[in-house]
Amino acid sequence: MSKKVTLIEGDGIGPEVVGSTRRVIDAIGVGIEWETCLAGAKVFKSGDSSGVPQDTIDSLKRNKVALKGPLETPVGYGEKSANVTLRKLFETYANTRPVREIPGVETPFSGRNIDFVVVRENVEDLYAGIEYMQTPSVAECLKLITHKGCEKITRFAFELARAEGRKTVHCATKANIMKLTEGLLKKVFESVAPDYPDIESKHIIIDNCAHQMVIRPEEFDVIVTTNMNGDIISDLGSGLVGGLGIAPGANIGNEVGIFEAVHGSAPDIAGKNLVNPTAVLFSGVMMLRHMGEFEAAHTIEQSLLYTLGVERIYTGDLVAGGASVGTKEFTDAVIHNLGKETDFWPVRNYKDIRLPQVKDNGIQPKSSRVVGADIYIQSDISADQLGQQMESLFANAPIKLKYISSRGVIVYPQVKGMSPDTVDHWRCRFIMRDEQVSMKDQDLCWLLDKVQQEYTWMHIEKLNEYDGAQAFTKAQGES
Ligand code: NAP
Repeated sequence: MSKKVTLIEGDGIGPEVVGSTRRVIDAIGVGIEWETCLAGAKVFKSGDSSGVPQDTIDSLKRNKVALKGPLETPVGYGEKSANVTLRKLFETYANTRPVREIPGVETPFSGRNIDFVVVRENVEDLYAGIEYMQTPSVAECLKLITHKGCEKITRFAFELARAEGRKTVHCATKANIMKLTEGLLKKVFESVAPDYPDIESKHIIIDNCAHQMVIRPEEFDVIVTTNMNGDIISDLGSGLVGGLGIAPGANIGNEVGIFEAVHGSAPDIAGKNLVNPTAVLFSGVMMLRHMGEFEAAHTIEQSLLYTLGVERIYTGDLVAGGASVGTKEFTDAVIHNLGKETDFWPVRNYKDIRLPQVKDNGIQPKSSRVVGADIYIQSDISADQLGQQMESLFANAPIKLKYISSRGVIVYPQVKGMSPDTVDHWRCRFIMRDEQVSMKDQDLCWLLDKVQQEYTWMHIEKLNEYDGAQAFTKAQGES
């Protein structure tokens, strides 16, 4: 039976690497019917600022699977990354990037048996791209992390570990600094882990994780992490095993899977028959497994390993100055080697990944109240002057100024002996004078009205308390 797959060739080197993968998959005769669609630079240039036309969206909705080349992110035209748009539109929340040593691809780490998967949350975090210039000289990027998003990605990581017969899942976060956002992933990971008693679970701070990936990479099995951390450490991972030319990836959602290499459109080497198609070929292998075509996936994987590890046929990126072949010749060799097996690659008993069905956040505190508000204002007076003005503005009012911070550090009242560098952007924290009393919305409106009569304000944030615990962080220097 024929299976339709949406094919997005992409920009730069995309048509070469995707074309190569298509040739190999067609040669194996798995009966895929390709539906070629556009996204990326050509679409931006045609005046569609989303970078993803409706035809492409409809095709993916129908077919549920796409093989995709890299898309150039426009600088100077177009609005958003078409990659991120595709990932978000189809809620492909799990970006999986296997990092596995390939015998024959020599690196400083060869022989260490590196074999792990980075599972990167793919739709939230700073990459949601919610940004503002709060003032002409102060930029803001919102890092929104949801309980639901954390539960989906952590359960996916454990399910992937089970499906691939892996033993350990590390959760890598920066929860020591970003206690609420990165901390939420850690908290949810720890609450989900008992549902997977067969898998060992460990938390690791992301910077230490990067260090350990270089020092003891063979000790990792599955690493689950937030979007930006995952982006960075998966590139680090590909560097350990031979570079971007061989690093595959998949964007998996409960409905749709989009398979693509980690690398980008590498315009410097596009159209020269120089590029390594291995990364997209391995992405194609992942796609076939996702489609239940385990045998075809195995055959292509083995052929690639045979070509690289036994025949030692390489594209230029894998041999500095040595003998190499072009993209087309490498692809010919892989097709020629279909059916050949290696004996150096322990074959995993891959099973379908059970995709987690997470319904809602399920978090309902027994009590909640607002205890104050942070108002961000722009002013070019000093912290001391501003603090004194605010205190007199709210003298005898039911709301009082608790402190002012600049770039996260308390500047009023000043920490003794310290004078942090400041800019004309201040966070003023207000609380109720009687701290037992909650701040109502009308109090907040009154507060904002009073502030706006004197100052330029840009942003306001409520200070919530859930079940008696503060749901906001302190400033540096706050006791
Ligand atoms: P890149 O395209 O990944 O290229 C970086 C370098 O890696 C290339 O210059 C090339 O190095 C090498 N390289 C990458 N893929 C290779 C392959 N298959 N075979 C051989 N060498 C390969 O990164 P970039 O230059 O930062 O990004 C270029 C564009 O791609 C940007 O517009 C970016 O936004 C976009 N991008 C898209 C995706 C995606 O669609 N998923 C991902 C990342 C970046 P040499 O110069 O040494 O040959």
